[in-house]
Amino acid sequence: MRTLPIKIWHEFQSVVETLSDETPVRKVLEVILFWVRSNQKHLAGEPFSAYGFDSFAKLDEREIPAEYSSFKTGVLINFKSIVLKRQARDVESIARFLRDTIEELATVEVDKQCPRCESEGMRAFIGKHNGLLAYQCNVCGCSHYSDGARIENGGLEFASEKQLRELGPI
Ligand SMILES: [Zn+2]
Repeated sequence: MRTLPIKIWHEFQSVVETLSDETPVRKVLEVILFWVRSNQKHLAGEPFSAYGFDSFAKLDEREIPAEYSSFKTGVLINFKSIVLKRQARDVESIARFLRDTIEELATVEVDKQCPRCESEGMRAFIGKHNGLLAYQCNVCGCSHYSDGARIENGGLEFASEKQLRELGPI
């Protein structure tokens, strides 16, 4: 895909422009997911498919622990300015940036150190096939299950608020 249809990118920019410091984190997530769902046919190919946008379209934001995410006001200002600066043709950076933002909005940071790069702070996920708690490093992307086991490719999904309560991180 060489470019997004200019109209749908401008639609997104004008909604994002209305977000303010007072906007609840959950609303920011809803705005992004609503746009992703409404434009699935434009976001079906590369690079969006490689960043998992098909699974984002299926997310139920009511189950996501957005209030516990690390996305805060300072991040929103940065988010707005980046969205407003990007052009419809910047598809690769739009896809990557929106993926990172959705991930930040939908996951909870836990007080753990990455075993590989030793950065502080990892995000909690759930094993798609085994329901086990897993952690992913913010910096290097290294991930493992809470029992230390390795994670198979594409094996993780966002944890629901209920799962995180049952398993401990919130
Ligand atoms: Zn790391």
